[in-house]
Amino acid sequence: MSEEARFRDEICRLGASIFQRGLTAGSSGNLSVRLADGWLMTPTNASLGRLDPARLSKLDDAGKLLSGDAPTKESFLHRVMYEERQRTGAVIHLHSTHSVAISCLADIDPADVLPPITAYYVMRVGRLPLVPYYRPGDLALAEAVRGFAGKHHAVLLANHGPVVAGSSLDAAANAIEELEETAKLFLLLRGCKTRFLTAEQVAEVRTAFPT
Ligand SMILES: [Zn+2]
Repeated sequence: MSEEARFRDEICRLGASIFQRGLTAGSSGNLSVRLADGWLMTPTNASLGRLDPARLSKLDDAGKLLSGDAPTKESFLHRVMYEERQRTGAVIHLHSTHSVAISCLADIDPADVLPPITAYYVMRVGRLPLVPYYRPGDLALAEAVRGFAGKHHAVLLANHGPVVAGSSLDAAANAIEELEETAKLFLLLRGCKTRFLTAEQVAEVRTAFPT
């Protein structure tokens, strides 16, 4: 099986798993993988639960459709991650419930949305900035994401959801799932007196597991 055929299967398998676990609903959420000659992207209006490997959008480096169905209207979110982060192998964007809930809170720190609840969050997500709200399809959103992408592999779009880049599809999935679980924990702990990791504990994790 060629590398591209393997990536097509991986996107469809992971998409079905994400959909079945309720991590994104309806036709929301999109996945992409970088190829040697461009990238593969989930199509517009496609449910992640019912993707067809043969109909995935294949785009060239400039974002032009080479084959398959038209790409998601959110493909520009993926493109800026590939452009700004050279080692990115895959990008995932979801409307995952708890992360979206966090993105709507009025009292969060836009420079770093979630506190260091667990070491795994620090390792897989790190600092998570909030990207200001723009209406769907507004290309100004892509430029806003570009402003953060050089320094952050994970960003949270206000009143919308997370975008996470990784070296591989597995790495991006692990990071966005860790983010969703941490968002859920943060909401469970709201109103409770909580011990977060100290600055020293966060520094120790970052030294032991550099990203
Ligand atoms: Zn979206």
